[in-house]
Amino acid sequence: MTKNTAVGLVRILSLTRRHYQCSIGSVLFNFPFQASRVSVNSSFYHHQSKKGSYLNTSTSNLRVGLAESQDYFSTVTSMANANGNAPVFKRLPQKVVPVNYDLTFEPDWTTHTFQATAAIDVEVKEATDAVVVHAVDFTIASIAYRGKNDDEQLEAEIFILDLEQEVLKINFPRALPQGNGTLTIAYSGKVKDNLRSFFRSKYKGSNGEERFHYATKFEPTYARGCFPCWDEPSVKATYDITLVVPKNLVALSNMPVKSDVPHPTNIDRKIVKFERSVKMSTYVMAFAIGEFDFVEGRTPDGILCRVYTPVGKKERGTFALEVVMKSLGYYKKYFGIPYPLPKMDLLAVAEFGSGAMENWGLVIFRENVLLVDDQLSSVASKQATSLTVAHETAHMWFGNLVTMEWWSDLWLNEGYASFMEYLCVDKLYPEFEIWNWFMGDYISVLEMDASATSHPIQVDVENPADIGSIFDFISYVKGAAIIRMVHDYLGDDKFKEGMSHYLSKNLFGNAETKDLWAALTEKSGEKIDVIMPTFTEQMGFPVFTVKDIEQSGQKKIITLSYQKFWLDSSAKDADTKKYRWITPVTIRKKSDPTGVALKKLINEDADVEFKLTVDSNEGEWVKLNADHIGYYRVIYPSAVLQNFIPSIKSKELQSSDRLGILDDLFATVEAGRSSSDDVLKFMLAYINEESEAVWSAIFKVVGSYDTLLRGTSLHEKFKAYALSLLSPTAKRLGWNRKENENSQDSVLRTTMLTKMVSLGCVDTIEEAKSMFAQHIKGDITISPDVKSAVYRAVATEGESGFDAFTDFLDEKVRIIAAMGSVKDKQVIQKVLEFGRSNEVNMQDIVTIIMSLSSQGQHEICWEYFKENWQFFRDNFPTGHFLINRVVKNVTSGFKSDEKAAEIENFFKENQIKGVGRSLSQSLEKIRIRKVWLERDTSCLQTFLSSY
Ligand SMILES: [Zn+2]
Repeated sequence: MTKNTAVGLVRILSLTRRHYQCSIGSVLFNFPFQASRVSVNSSFYHHQSKKGSYLNTSTSNLRVGLAESQDYFSTVTSMANANGNAPVFKRLPQKVVPVNYDLTFEPDWTTHTFQATAAIDVEVKEATDAVVVHAVDFTIASIAYRGKNDDEQLEAEIFILDLEQEVLKINFPRALPQGNGTLTIAYSGKVKDNLRSFFRSKYKGSNGEERFHYATKFEPTYARGCFPCWDEPSVKATYDITLVVPKNLVALSNMPVKSDVPHPTNIDRKIVKFERSVKMSTYVMAFAIGEFDFVEGRTPDGILCRVYTPVGKKERGTFALEVVMKSLGYYKKYFGIPYPLPKMDLLAVAEFGSGAMENWGLVIFRENVLLVDDQLSSVASKQATSLTVAHETAHMWFGNLVTMEWWSDLWLNEGYASFMEYLCVDKLYPEFEIWNWFMGDYISVLEMDASATSHPIQVDVENPADIGSIFDFISYVKGAAIIRMVHDYLGDDKFKEGMSHYLSKNLFGNAETKDLWAALTEKSGEKIDVIMPTFTEQMGFPVFTVKDIEQSGQKKIITLSYQKFWLDSSAKDADTKKYRWITPVTIRKKSDPTGVALKKLINEDADVEFKLTVDSNEGEWVKLNADHIGYYRVIYPSAVLQNFIPSIKSKELQSSDRLGILDDLFATVEAGRSSSDDVLKFMLAYINEESEAVWSAIFKVVGSYDTLLRGTSLHEKFKAYALSLLSPTAKRLGWNRKENENSQDSVLRTTMLTKMVSLGCVDTIEEAKSMFAQHIKGDITISPDVKSAVYRAVATEGESGFDAFTDFLDEKVRIIAAMGSVKDKQVIQKVLEFGRSNEVNMQDIVTIIMSLSSQGQHEICWEYFKENWQFFRDNFPTGHFLINRVVKNVTSGFKSDEKAAEIENFFKENQIKGVGRSLSQSLEKIRIRKVWLERDTSCLQTFLSSY
């Protein structure tokens, strides 16, 4: 099947769901409009709600991003620099392998360096005088080997640190005989400042002074920067960790503390030893040192769980503690395998390179991702924390206990954990109605995966540096979506049985994707091993076109066929026939709107007509893809679509089906297979919609037309149409949480009011401004659910609005996002300059660009980018997700061939490495939009005029 070996290309994420980078730490925050500097209280950082103001970008409408993938993007650097001259990648020789690492680290807080000893028990499988291990950035003091029964050590004759391959090549004067022994390496290294390997995480102390936590982040290949090791996921070993640290600090590692004693010669230090670990991969080993508070609890099985927080914030760890304790119980029951460690710590540090990292027994999170404050966090933030904690906890089994053999199968790890987090949270907190979140992610990934610039989720990766180029939103969310489809196809019991079988067979070992499919096949008797590769090894998905539905007695005969679905219909003809899927298809009918009337595996070639027969009464609707779980789209004839309308209005159709019908219809409009008035007319059936998930599909449509029509004579009319659609629900929700309201309404309020502001609803903006004025006076407190909307409304006032913000700098995340709502061109320039000033973190300029771009300020952003492209090129690592986001957001909002050509030429003349895929996606989007506007202007004119 198609294997993507493209080098130097990275894919984009437009928005993050729960890990929006928000530059944690206590930065000095200086608005350009005010001369004053105001210290930001870091306790107020919490992540931007996924439903917050970023989320209505009219260009892509993506609502989510991924915890861990952000850091994977940064790994693309070496590949993007390669230019065809990359060193040939080699895995380590396996003549000598580790059994146990006995590691001692003694860091120095003033120089940010460390002294270390690695005494590695190894098995020499084949006599050799050469040992090769991964290592980088070390100064080696000595290397010696002692055989198990030898009295004397054998000193290394020569050792070379090969920086290109990141290996330490050691030669001994004679061959090490087959058998066991200990390789001892004394060395020193640096505590890094780039949030990788063994690094320092900066924060402000209570008096505003700069302080550091020390922590580790080893996935995928950063363990080698901390200790010499076999840094490959399949080379597992046990660990004895010893940390020599200042006596006032907390030291943590994967396992519980075994001993904690004063240093014999240094009264300021102590020596903390940890219990021997289970057998595990290098990338999940971890330790951390710092000033931390904690909250704790014990599961019914006696597992001690703690949430460590920065000092003074432990109450904010209470919710995560509850989630982790419950999740451990849930997964134990689900997999039939107990959590194998005696403790589980979650640690929040101020700065962390990704949202969270699943180190076994010591999961490290960025502070804003883990901590929840009852007064300051929105409902959506709390739900996001529950999902992230459940995701990382799932990795304790799927990833840590059974690990991918090589990085090529990372998608499965992440896709699987991204599915299980929903299953788990749905069970633990049914009131969250958490699958709604997934549906928002799901419709976004379907849109991305229909583009010509998509890629298969399963791709061979030889060099771990290439992970960044293939491991993205599609891998996470499509991965989760297709696992959800398997779960639905097999049913929970069989799926569970297969999973448990897969895990028990490979405990403390490694496996590949095919091993999981084989286990599910074995336990279910279904051909999962044949079905699933059609979804993992090809990009895209099928669209089923219903040609005819014929009533025959008490049955309906449905005639249909499928093809690959392309958003760009001009790409369709060339490639359609080479794609073939084996698809589990379901049918639902009006007389049983929650059941499944037919379940069938479609094993036809593309473009071949076939029939499905289902028991059904005359006059009732039948709908393909019950609950919109199948990873495919459906096109119905217009008359069939109309039959759904009464059941959409009455909500007899399930919310997932209401969403599915609308999103499929909209996709066919974008692809030129239906027209715009079809979808805008159809959408009126949703005017009293209550489901937050369905609204995410409506917002996707509204956002897309907002971008499409901006700058045309139809834009104001469209906004009036959109406001009339949104207003009844905005009114119903109001500005304040009602007593006992469901969480869907709380989450929807955030997005709905933000959208109303962004569409320019005068009443909403006035109300928001009045609330803000009262808030400043101290007369009212604005609910965290609506702060984003209020700030956006105030920001539309320009400079005077920002003056008011300065009293609320603790709301940094929301404020920076709100900056995109300013309208005055001069103020926009100031906002952009502020975003790249030294007073804020580098990622804040990206947030501002995204925010401006979502408000239709593409032209200003593009001009700004052109003037400052070297700044962007030089200040972000090559291929990093942040520079990709910038490129995507400054280029993708246009809709003319001229602009596409201008953008293409600009990047030809001014090359920025590692942004090729983002650029291709933008150009594809621009051209799709151009054709769409030409095609539908006339029908939109008619519809919007008569409306
Ligand atoms: Zn993960």
